[in-house]
Amino acid sequence: MKTKILLVGIDGLILQTALNSGRAPMLKSLKDSGHFTGLAMDTPTLSGPGWSTLLTGSTHAQHAVVDNRFSGHNLLYRPDLLSRAYYQDQSTTTFAAAGWPPLVDPAGVGPVIHERREQARANLHRVIARDGETYGYERVDAEIATVAVFAMEKFGPDVSFVYFCDADEAGHSYGVVGSQYIEAIGRVDSYLTRLHDAIEQRVGRYKEEWLVVLTTDHGHVDEGGHGSDSPQERASFVIAKGMGRDNPNWPANFAPEDLVSLILDERA
Ligand SMILES: [Zn+2]
Repeated sequence: MKTKILLVGIDGLILQTALNSGRAPMLKSLKDSGHFTGLAMDTPTLSGPGWSTLLTGSTHAQHAVVDNRFSGHNLLYRPDLLSRAYYQDQSTTTFAAAGWPPLVDPAGVGPVIHERREQARANLHRVIARDGETYGYERVDAEIATVAVFAMEKFGPDVSFVYFCDADEAGHSYGVVGSQYIEAIGRVDSYLTRLHDAIEQRVGRYKEEWLVVLTTDHGHVDEGGHGSDSPQERASFVIAKGMGRDNPNWPANFAPEDLVSLILDERA
């Protein structure tokens, strides 16, 4: 049986702040027991280019996403992790859930995750798109978490991407040194716990092998905001925790655009 993948994207997460806060026990547990790599994101440290790189395995030059407007992008020629897993093995089931429309909404400026309508009609691909820009990520992330936990429990898709933006939104509104950022991190950590528990149950019940991978697209300056090349804005990470199997034997250092092929190799 092939390893199933859950990639969780936590937008704008400063990992060290989360670990120091004591409010992110699941993040800490996954980091302590999983594979860990520190990443340095390329500039501009914006969500559009950052997630395009992490999800398609492309450099900024290759995907041509330079900001959050996505104009002139190359994403139709740079298939995402889910699509590539499907092209590699056409029995692969895929799932994505995100509240930032450019990642998943075909009606928006992206999407980074390809729509793949034929596979969606065949129930091989499911995309849940919400609009956190309009409704706020505290509410929308809670919905994303509920839908994603249900999908993990009920279907256990082969390759999934689940995205949370509550912490990033709090960082923009209040900065990253106050309590609001920590509160948001605590909420995201509770979603991680529910996802982790759903997968743990599957591993026990069906003897499945899973790899849970966590990453972020950028940090923030202390007062909130990002885009420049300071170490705190560029800092990202990959945590990869094997469940029902060993942790992956990944290098201690790699580039953000290497993540997709490392994950796909675990499915080969
Ligand atoms: Zn972002």
